[in-house]
Amino acid sequence: MTARIIDGKVLAADLRGKVTDAVHRLKRDRGIVPGIAVVLVGEDPASQVYVRTKSYMVASSGMHAYDHKLPATTSEAELLALIDKLNTDPAVNGILVQLPLPRKIDPHKVIAAIDPAKDVDGFHPLNVGWLATGFPSLVPCTPLACIMLAKTVHASFDNMEAVVIGRSNIVGKPVAQLLLAENATVTIAHSRTADLPGLCRRADLLIAAAGRPAMVRGDWIKPGATVIDVGINRVPGEAGKTKIVGDVAFDEAKAVAGAITPVPGGVGPMTIACLLLNTLRAACAQNGLPAPNF
Ligand code: NAP
Repeated sequence: MTARIIDGKVLAADLRGKVTDAVHRLKRDRGIVPGIAVVLVGEDPASQVYVRTKSYMVASSGMHAYDHKLPATTSEAELLALIDKLNTDPAVNGILVQLPLPRKIDPHKVIAAIDPAKDVDGFHPLNVGWLATGFPSLVPCTPLACIMLAKTVHASFDNMEAVVIGRSNIVGKPVAQLLLAENATVTIAHSRTADLPGLCRRADLLIAAAGRPAMVRGDWIKPGATVIDVGINRVPGEAGKTKIVGDVAFDEAKAVAGAITPVPGGVGPMTIACLLLNTLRAACAQNGLPAPNF
């Protein structure tokens, strides 16, 4: 068997196109232009790249991106004051604070200070609680991306056994909650899980979010299973360069799985498209309009 490749680039472009159309309609019919504030503290090179890409994609979809680049010397009080200002700014529908923050700033305090209605990352405790209790909420972008990618293969997750490797608040836990809400039978694995390969072999849907390069081998995968690889790991490549690989040994897995996301080009691009979707949803909700149904 050779797995079908779930092309995150193509699917993300399609979702961005739908968001762009909806943004244009919102502007034309209601005079509303959704806006997102993207806050970066410090000069972490990876974060700078992420923020630049996010702001570019936001602007390309017709929304406003308000960049706030703050020096690494910014105090927690100064960052909280900015969040306060953004919370009350009617032009700002979404607030994204790029993580990680410098060590002297408590990320929990900062996330909790964001208006939950503008929390397009879905990390605020209220959004986390609403997701866990089954209420509509802003859902973290990467988990949402995983579900949307898996849905291109499965019309329903009823009767499916899903295994999620990883229990982080950013990926593992929320993706498990989303799968549960979609009627999958879910197991969350982590670094203390016994017989991880045996557990994974039971999965009709395997979501790998451990941050361990090529950890999931071909013989961990149930024949025909759908594999969503969240991992982004930088490893040595050719000619002294580095390359990005996922948590799944792709070539081995491709020979066993029914469908699989590549890295790069799978969950990553879809995550950014989901950020645009969340910003659009937040703008609609804040203006008393129904959420777009895609
Ligand atoms: P994280 O906070 O480091 O969490 C990793 C999780 O994996 C932890 O729960 C850990 O278990 C578990 N784990 C680690 N080693 C394991 C092992 N050998 N066996 C079983 N479980 C193991 O990472 P994260 O933020 O969730 O991110 C996970 C990966 O996804 C990273 O590669 C990250 O770069 C990537 N990521 C990608 C996107 C995207 O847009 N594509 C977005 C976010 C993250 P314990 O809890 O027991 O320590």
